[in-house]
Amino acid sequence: MYKTTAELRSAFLAFFAKNGHQVVDSSSLVPGNDPTLLFTNAGMNQFKDVFLGLDKRSYTRATTSQRCVRAGGKHNDLDNVGYTARHHTFFEMLGNFSFGDYFKHDAIRFAWTFLTEDLKLPKERLCVTVYETDDEAYNIWKDEIGVPEDCIIRIGDNKGAPYASDNFWQMGDTGPCGPCTEIFYDHGDHIWGGRPGTPEEDGDRFIEIWNIVFMQFNRQADGAMDPLPKPSVDTGMGLERIAAILQGVHSNYQIDIFTKLIAKAAEIIGVEDLSNNSLKVIADHIRSCAFLVADGVMPSNEGRGYVLRRIIRRAVRHGNKLGATDTFFYKLVPTLIEVMGDAAKELKASQEIVEKALKAEEEQFARTLERGLGMLDQALEALKGDTLDGETVFKLYDTYGFPVDLTADVCRERNINVDEAGFETAMAEQRRRAQEAGKFGTDYNAVLKIDGETEFSGYDNLTGNSPVV
Ligand code: ATP
Ligand code: MG
Ligand code: MG
Ligand code: MG
Repeated sequence: MYKTTAELRSAFLAFFAKNGHQVVDSSSLVPGNDPTLLFTNAGMNQFKDVFLGLDKRSYTRATTSQRCVRAGGKHNDLDNVGYTARHHTFFEMLGNFSFGDYFKHDAIRFAWTFLTEDLKLPKERLCVTVYETDDEAYNIWKDEIGVPEDCIIRIGDNKGAPYASDNFWQMGDTGPCGPCTEIFYDHGDHIWGGRPGTPEEDGDRFIEIWNIVFMQFNRQADGAMDPLPKPSVDTGMGLERIAAILQGVHSNYQIDIFTKLIAKAAEIIGVEDLSNNSLKVIADHIRSCAFLVADGVMPSNEGRGYVLRRIIRRAVRHGNKLGATDTFFYKLVPTLIEVMGDAAKELKASQEIVEKALKAEEEQFARTLERGLGMLDQALEALKGDTLDGETVFKLYDTYGFPVDLTADVCRERNINVDEAGFETAMAEQRRRAQEAGKFGTDYNAVLKIDGETEFSGYDNLTGNSPVV
């Protein structure tokens, strides 16, 4: 039986290879073919043009284990990390793809066979969803696979519903789209959560493991849904989620990869309680940060680099919370390379660059972290009500390098909201002042920086994003 995450990754690829799929390498986290996408966030990204018919490959079936980051843009799971058992900023998505080759019957049968025959998951723990009007998929599950009808749940668009499921996939406002079917695993009634399609589905009891998309239509600008002449299939299964099931644990953070990363982080920082939430956050964040640097992203004040900076700083803050007295984050890289096995090829090749970049960022931030946290503490103690004002959030950002979501992370631990709109206003005001100051042709940075609190701002100046007054 495949037990380790590495074995599971290989077993998945081997299963689909045996069924005629080309095994394709994971692509970079920086999408090569899509400037609108922050980071690669799904297996299908690298095949987008193939699905659109703009790119031809020598194969019509492919399978991958794709590294993904969901820490910004449309899919942002940053705030879930440390709070749910199943979300990471970085994860691997196992996928099989049909480019105008097989469709619903085979896609459903492949998934079910892999889960129940190869992995031997108990069928009674599984339930599935289909799009509300997709009778074809419903009947395949019922008649061909034999799933009991009360375990086949019809889910619509859920427009505006507070819970997550939405079983209609689309690439954009126009273009390929179609219904999904998903497979969920029930971890047992000792865990809070409800079946998909209920308001409690966002709990961690029924966990979505596999999402299968049937690209069936081409949506026109006028809303018309033209059937695609050659419908396609795109699927994604979270490697860490399926590993948790096979390793007999509930949370992704208890699988082999995370157990080792958490133990290492605890050892470096000197923590005894391995169940501490901050260790999970650090173990999660080292994966996204190290792989992002390996794929060429560097901490900076804009775009992808800023998202990376935010994640690193958040990890460093959690280390500080655990009592770290020295740099610790980059020291996790060797363990990460070891636990990621085959998936760490590129990371291994750039290990030195990655460690250096993470270390430099941590050192830079560590200088102002303590003072910023002190200021935040004071502000929270003096706070009346449950919302921290935008001016304070801005000062933490401007003077101490606290990205707004870092401040929000600290506040959330104390049930306090952050006035993000107020922060934006303060930012806009600063930009306006900077522009005005620029008109005089004087180096205001040189003149005005002598206020004792600006030690941190040095790197802001480097990227031209500098606080002026
Ligand atoms: P969820 O509803 O649990 O947030 P999703 O519907 O957003 O998941 P998909 O976009 O369908 O996820 O991605 C395909 C699969 O990738 C999911 O079924 C899940 O197994 C896995 N997955 C998605 N997001 C994450 C994440 N943040 N961390 C780990 N695995 C994930
Ligand atoms: Mg999600
Ligand atoms: Mg979902
Ligand atoms: Mg999904």
